[in-house]
Formats: sequence, C-alpha cells, structure tokens
Amino acid sequence: MSAPAWADALVASVCAEAGLAPPRLSWRRRAAERSTGVARRSAGMIAVRAGSDRLDQRLTVLHELAHWLAPPPRRRGAAHHGRAFYRIAFELYRRHGLADDDALRLESTRYPSALRHAVALGVPGAGAALADRLAVVRARPRRRWRVLVPEHAVRLARDGRWHVCSICGQRIVAGNLARVRRARRPVRHVLMTALPA
Ligand SMILES: [Zn+2]
Ligand SMILES: [Zn+2]
Repeated sequence: MSAPAWADALVASVCAEAGLAPPRLSWRRRAAERSTGVARRSAGMIAVRAGSDRLDQRLTVLHELAHWLAPPPRRRGAAHHGRAFYRIAFELYRRHGLADDDALRLESTRYPSALRHAVALGVPGAGAALADRLAVVRARPRRRWRVLVPEHAVRLARDGRWHVCSICGQRIVAGNLARVRRARRPVRHVLMTALPA
C-alpha cells in the first residue's frame, strides 16, 4: 500500500530543508490507535505502520525523520533517544504542524524519558507535563505481594528444554541456573505473586 500524499510530501519537505536525500517511505496499516515506525538507514527507508490517530501518524513520520536526520551514534549503545535526537525531533514537530502539548503527550506515551529531554531543551509546557507525569506515578498504588509457595530449597528438574524448580515450577535460566549448580548449599527461593492493586 502506498503512503498517503501528505506523508510523502512531509518526507520530501523535511529532507529538502535538511539538504538530505529522502528515504523511501513504506506504509502499512495496523489495527490500533497508535502508529509505529522504524528508520532503516542502511536500507534507505522509513517504514510506518499507521494506526487510526492522524496526529499520531504525523508524529510517527516526523519521529522517524528525526532518526534519518540525526547523525548515527558514534559508539554502539549510545542513546538512540537521547538529547541530540530530541533536539532534532521536537524542532521537527514544531515546524511541521504539531502543537507542543500534542508533541509532548504523544511522544511521552511511547518514551517517558522524552519529557526530561524536552524540559532541558526548553520545549514550552514540558515542565508542567513532567510534573503531571511524576504526580501520576507517585499516586499509583504500590503493589502488594502474597506468598504463593513458601520458601524452599530449589530442586532442579527438567521440563522439556527448560530447567525448573520441581517444587514451585519456576523456570531457572542462565545466570540463576549457573548459581544453583555452583552453590555448595542449596539455593532457597520463594514464589510470590502480585495482588491486584
Ligand atoms: Zn525512535
Ligand atoms: Zn522453587
């Protein structure tokens, strides 16, 4: 399916402004409100799976264009969504039709850390949005826990491809498996479950 004309035009105009060759834009639909996207520099393309929310479609195209414009991280593991990225992204959002509060709301639903960068970059309204978010996080009820299987020594058993504790049935993987095998005295554990808040 081909991208809508507005999206092709947006890609063309952002890249023309930046003096860069535009990526190909691949466009598919997804059955959700939100869109997702990915920028593949080596393949010369941006792929968007478009949800139903038009504003979020626009933000998604601009977000991927910001990746297209951002210099590739110099070292592996450098922040993909760091300050340098958001400097470009929030500027694109503003210049290409998103109000600051919409940009902050939509971007921070995907990447909550976007708000801290937005505050540092001086995006209007970012401070208030960050304060609101922290208030919501603080007001969230703490989880309560209940013991499902009381503390016991782990007894290793196989369950198909997996190692499990035969007493409580928990899978024991990788680092924990090595630790259980190495231990002189049996490793003990307990199985907890979260109660609904
Ligand atoms: Zn991204
Ligand atoms: Zn167990």
